[in-house]
Amino acid sequence: MSLDMNWVEWDRAMEIGEDEVVIAIDRAECIGSGQCVAVAPRAFRLDDVMKAVVIDPQAEPLENILEAAEICPTRAIYVSQGRDVVFP
Ligand code: SF4
Repeated sequence: MSLDMNWVEWDRAMEIGEDEVVIAIDRAECIGSGQCVAVAPRAFRLDDVMKAVVIDPQAEPLENILEAAEICPTRAIYVSQGRDVVFP
């Protein structure tokens, strides 16, 4: 899935209809605190401007991705699985 997803891409991802985990990051809200990287380092990294990007949503257990989304201080992480929004 896209590393820097905008809302159009998010809407399209929601139409996939598979069990694939999809992560979107609202980069305007990301403050580069790094908690997501600490909790799920195979799914997130910080880029050159210290904003979070998605590496591979399938590389971490969904539990870790949800923990990352929950502890994000700006609630910048959105998670879906198939057609279901699982966070927030
Ligand atoms: S936890 Fe949230 S604010 Fe911090 S780097 Fe990750 S997405 Fe950005």
